[in-house]
Amino acid sequence: MKDTKAKYIFVTGGVSSSLGKGIIAASLAKLLQENGYRVTIQKLDPYINIDPGTLNPYEHGECFVTEDGAETDLDLGHYERFLNTPTSQANNVTSGRIYQAVIEKERKGEFLGKTVQVIPHITNEIKDRIQILGNSGLYDIVITEIGGTVGDIESLPFVEAIRQMRWELGKENTTIIHLTLVPFLAAAGELKTKPTQHSVKTLLESGIQADILVCRTEHHLNAELRKKIALFTNVAQEAVIESIDAPTIYDVPNLMLDEGLDKVVLKSLELPYNNKPALNSWNAFLSRLKNPKQEVTIGLVGKYVTLHDAYKSIVEAFIHAGASTETKVNIEWLHSDKINANNSKNKLKNLDGILVAPGFGERGVAGKLLTIKYARENDIPFLGICYGMQMAVIEYAQNVLGLQDANSTEIDENTSNPVIDLMDSQKNITRKGGTMRLGNWSCELKTDSLAAKIYQTSAIQERHRHRYELNNKYADALQAAGMKISGINKETNLGEIVELPNHSWFVGVQYHPEYKSTVEKPHPLFVSFVQAAANNKMKNHANMAQKI
Ligand code: GLN
Repeated sequence: MKDTKAKYIFVTGGVSSSLGKGIIAASLAKLLQENGYRVTIQKLDPYINIDPGTLNPYEHGECFVTEDGAETDLDLGHYERFLNTPTSQANNVTSGRIYQAVIEKERKGEFLGKTVQVIPHITNEIKDRIQILGNSGLYDIVITEIGGTVGDIESLPFVEAIRQMRWELGKENTTIIHLTLVPFLAAAGELKTKPTQHSVKTLLESGIQADILVCRTEHHLNAELRKKIALFTNVAQEAVIESIDAPTIYDVPNLMLDEGLDKVVLKSLELPYNNKPALNSWNAFLSRLKNPKQEVTIGLVGKYVTLHDAYKSIVEAFIHAGASTETKVNIEWLHSDKINANNSKNKLKNLDGILVAPGFGERGVAGKLLTIKYARENDIPFLGICYGMQMAVIEYAQNVLGLQDANSTEIDENTSNPVIDLMDSQKNITRKGGTMRLGNWSCELKTDSLAAKIYQTSAIQERHRHRYELNNKYADALQAAGMKISGINKETNLGEIVELPNHSWFVGVQYHPEYKSTVEKPHPLFVSFVQAAANNKMKNHANMAQKI
């Protein structure tokens, strides 16, 4: 094992899934960052997919894309939004990726004739993946979150790898935080500690004694209860941390600060507690978030709207932009499949702004096109993201250029007007995983554009995740008819942004601005869009008042 100076925090979960391990990890990292430590967070996922890129959003929520083009778990989005530092491929590792790497080494003969086994080969690969971050010299502390719940068969190799790291690096260099649930039984009128006791025991069966317990609860834990949990689970009483349900995920760092999670963690890692985190800019954000001066309703049109996690980063980008403009942003979730010519006006007329979301495939496309037509013709602020931008181009080509069969070849391979088409470099690709245009690409903005005004610069970098592109054969015709291509990738000459100068705020972007929005740096496009929606609402009110 290589020497390493970074210290490691492992976050495991028990009793139930969805207890918010990702938010606890991100909140703790925030507090440690404010204490002067360089922190990163990593997520280990026990499933066999190489990455979540091929998963349906209904299976696993949004796929978050990093700067280096990794398709990752949505928790990485939280890490970036809380810490305001980028993550990378190394921050999300699945069992699939571990096994793939080990099998590849086996094929190359790297194991010198040995039998390849879960222990030590898979566990060694896991340890290496954890320590890549720790050995990079970039971080003082690496927080590694283990997906799933202890006791799951599939997470056993991860738990074993942690056990070994703890033995190898020592207790002072590794801390185990176990997240559990303390349920309230209404009939008994009591909080119950038994599930927590069992869960800590299950972890112990794998040779790991938890150092700190974070107990998710709907009611406060009193001193007696904390003492009971501590006594039966072998942890210090101060290390029984309450994680009470919070109004927003952004309240959790303060809750953890009040509970002293950062203090017990640093004590356990034998690191100095430099200063109590002031969370100044964080709290300024929270106070703007909680005291809005105006309110807007934005329609979010997509086909996965029944699972809000499918659009996690978009929702969070609206929260950041809302706080920045002191605006309460209500999202009206609209299923694109349910919008048709008979109901579109009714469904859309009360919206202050409309966002057409990213997506894939044919279902719901007609509803998206009707929505965009309505936004365009009625001067409603419109933001189209990725598929939403492609739909905006198709709608314009069909209804303004009069190319009635204009389409994307993703939807109609035989269209005579493929305004959205595959790049040549994509045409022979048959494998689905990791083969889209992914990650950071640069984009040059036209100086007299709305985009340049919004970004306040002419050169930007944004993250992509798509296969299809605006077809440059139609660029001149679209521009002559009033659709401006205001952002271009210089190396490929691909159009990345379209806008309509004769509309008050109409922007389509081929990339995903939502991945870059953080608490500290709300994304300028979302900020401007929310403000445009507020202006539109004001204008409509003024018009209405005039009519009365
Ligand atoms: N389906 C489109 C493409 O692959 C858009 C993808 C997206 O919205 N992320 O190009």
